[in-house]
Amino acid sequence: MSEKTIFQKIIDREIPAPLVYEDEFCVAFNDISPQAPIHVLIVPRKVIPRVGAAEQDDQATLGALLLAAGAVARKLGVDSREKGFRLAINNGVDAGETVPHLHVHLLAGRPLDWPPG
Ligand code: 5GP
Repeated sequence: MSEKTIFQKIIDREIPAPLVYEDEFCVAFNDISPQAPIHVLIVPRKVIPRVGAAEQDDQATLGALLLAAGAVARKLGVDSREKGFRLAINNGVDAGETVPHLHVHLLAGRPLDWPPG
C-alpha cells in the first residue's frame, strides 16, 4: 500500500488540524501556508490523486467538493457579490500540485489577480 498523504493523515486525525467544515464526503481546514487572508483546503475523504485521475464513480465526491466550498464560503462570510472567493485545483507538477490527494483551494479576503501566475 502506498504511503498516506499528509491530507489522509489529517483526515485520520493522526496530524492535528482544526476542521473548518466536514461532511460525509469531505473535510476542510486552513492551509498551513496561506496565500490570502482566507485560504482553506477542501479535501475528499476518498483518496483521488487529482482531477485527471477521477473516475465516473467519483461523481458524487466531485460534486460534494463544490457544495462544500460554497458552504465554507458562506460560513466565512465571503459568498457575496462584493466579498468573493476563488477556487483553484492544481493538477500536476506544472500546475503547482505538491500533495497528490485531490483538494480545492478556497482563497478569499483580498482582491485576487487574474490571470493567476
Ligand atoms: P498543492 O500545491 O498540492 O495544490 O496544495 C497543497 C497545499 O497543502 C499547499 O498550499 C500547502 O501549503 C498545504 N499543506 C502542505 N502540508 C500541509 C499540512 O501539513 N497542513 C496543512 N494545513 N496544509 C498543508
